[in-house]
Order: sequence, then structure tokens, then C-alpha cells
Amino acid sequence: MSKRDYYEVLGVGRSASDDEIKRAYRQLAKKYHPDLNPGDEEAERNFKEINEAYEVLSDEQKRSTYDQFGFDGLDGNAGFSGGGSPFGGMGDIFEAFFGGGSPFGGGAQQRRNAPARGSDLRAELTLTFEEAAFGVRKELRITHEEMCSECMGTGAKKGTQPARCGRCNGSGQINVVQNTAFGRYQSTRVCDQCNGQGKIITEPCPECSGKGRVRKQKNIVLAVPAGVDTGHYMTIPGEGDVGFNGGATGDLLVYFNVQSHPRFKRTNFDLHLDFPISFAQATLGAEIEVPTLEETVRYRVPEGTQPGTVFRLKGRGIQKLRGSGKGDLFVKVEVEVPKHLTPLQKDLLMDFEKAMGGNTDTLGTQKKNNIFKK
Ligand SMILES: [Zn+2]
Ligand SMILES: [Zn+2]
Repeated sequence: MSKRDYYEVLGVGRSASDDEIKRAYRQLAKKYHPDLNPGDEEAERNFKEINEAYEVLSDEQKRSTYDQFGFDGLDGNAGFSGGGSPFGGMGDIFEAFFGGGSPFGGGAQQRRNAPARGSDLRAELTLTFEEAAFGVRKELRITHEEMCSECMGTGAKKGTQPARCGRCNGSGQINVVQNTAFGRYQSTRVCDQCNGQGKIITEPCPECSGKGRVRKQKNIVLAVPAGVDTGHYMTIPGEGDVGFNGGATGDLLVYFNVQSHPRFKRTNFDLHLDFPISFAQATLGAEIEVPTLEETVRYRVPEGTQPGTVFRLKGRGIQKLRGSGKGDLFVKVEVEVPKHLTPLQKDLLMDFEKAMGGNTDTLGTQKKNNIFKK
């Protein structure tokens, strides 16, 4: 929703005097007043618009802020608290844009003296396949905002105290009387002298420039449990950004990124392995040595095993993250067709084929080509 320029809304020039502004406002307010335009939504919108414009342009300080910075200069603290206003609405709108719990940590919350929780932080940690499978201790370097230890978070230079704000008497809020064409209305808004903090720092702490908080790097030792996978994360409580005005500190969320393995593939806690065996092993059966993540185990392949057969080795997978036990290892048999046989080996294979009742005339590349050349 784009907003119209306040001067344009009231139909006055930028150099208009206070009287001119007041006159223009009164005229328009009478024209668009809801009581005179029942059920007319456009009139209601206009009425809100002119009230908003008047509230800024009738206040010397706000007007000069608006002249310099436009709408951007008038954030949630510039007024429009909505609470006691007869016109309402504006406070909600600003709350939606600048309001509490913003992940960016900025906005109105920060400037008021109510406690607010610090931001959660997100970090990423890359693990090898084995580290994820067996668990590992890892050191992680993070940067977060901590309370300034020099001033203990007050923002005032060591040995000094922040002074109580004289304008709001330390409450962080001031009562505002709005003059409108229909009378005086009282509302509260954030004190602009102390930005709602209720106190004023006369000598800022040199360590944190008066913010009471500093960005710090920190090493965190993480005990990664066995079984984590890509997309899993660990919450480290209290290692996010420090809270505001005594609010709780945020958390650190460490997301895992697990590297792949050259031989094993993982689905949840099961492992998958392609295992080549020879034609003879598949045909006659054989004892094979299968690698697992921990050790090599013997497995008996039965006679007549077909290519693509999958064997399941129970409990040879990955440690389950929650609860006990391990996943399984699935071994898929690949029957290898021998290449580059010696003449003797070829003869033996011919004999084998004959013994199986096959027609050896049709075997071999050479002969096959001859058939097609005919
Ligand atoms: Zn400090
Ligand atoms: Zn104040």
C-alpha cells in the first residue's frame, strides 16, 4: 500500500504555516467525518489519512522529521500509538511492520523498555559420514551478541549510572494530547527523549558504545550424538543473542550437513551397499566378505543367487538417534560378467555352454557379425 504525501493529503504546500495546515485539516475532517458519511468506506479511508497527516504536520518535531526523511523517518515510535486515539487502526499497522518478535531483532521492541527475547541463531556444521554415524565432539566457532561485561549491559561508562529520563520520568512513555477538530484526545506513546528506555546515558560505555551489548566470537564444543543426518539440528539453549531489557537469551540452532560415503548410501538408519560377485560365486554359492561401517563380516551367498538380489544384514546399519538399536545393512548383489578372457578361459566357457545344452555356433562377436553380413 503506497502512501500519499502528507502535504498532498491536506492539500497544502510544503511551506504551509501551522494555521494553514490546521484550516485545511478542519475542512477536510468535516467533509470526511464518519458521522456525516455513514457506511462510506472511501470517506473513512480519507478521514484516517487526513488525521494521520495532521498528526505529523501539526507537530513541529514530527514535521521536520518527515520533511527530512519522509515516511521512513516516522517509524513505530513517532506516534500513532492507536491506543487512546479516537480513530484507531494506525497502531496496529505499525505494529505489523515493526512489531515484536521480529527475527531481525530490530523495531519497536528494542527501543521500549519491556524485556524482549534475543534472536535465535542458526549455524551449519558439516560432518563426515562416519562422524554422523558414530557421533563426534566438534568445536564450532560462532558469533553472537553478548551482554557487555564492561558496563554489565547498562550501556553507561563504568563507574557512572544512566540518568533517569526527565521527560517521561523513567517510564519510557509519555502522554500526548491530540488536538483535532472535534476536541482533545489523550494517548500514550514511546518517549522520544529516551527512545522508551526510561533512562538516558550521559557517558556511554566505550566498549559497547552505549548499547550494553557486544558482538563476540565464541567456541562451542558440541557433543554430536550418533545417528544424526543432514537436516537434523541441535538446539544449544542460551547461545543465541542476549535478550533486551533483561529478556531471555536466544538459542543456537546447529544444522548438520552430512557428507556422502564412497560405498555406502544411507536412508534414515539403514545402509545400502552394492556388492560385486563373480558369475561362479553367484552360481555355486560362496562365502563373501562384506564391509560394514565398523568391520568386515562374512556372509554366505547361496547357490544360484540372481543378479540384483538384496541381502539384509540386521543391525549392521547406523545407530538410531532416539531409542536403542541400529538400522540394517542391505547388500545388493551385482554379478560381474568377465571381460578379456584368455583363449583357454573361452574354451572352458564354450564347453560349459555345451554342457548346458546351448548352441555354441551362435556364440561370439565374430560369428554373430557374419550372420548379419549374409
Ligand atoms: Zn558496555
Ligand atoms: Zn523518556
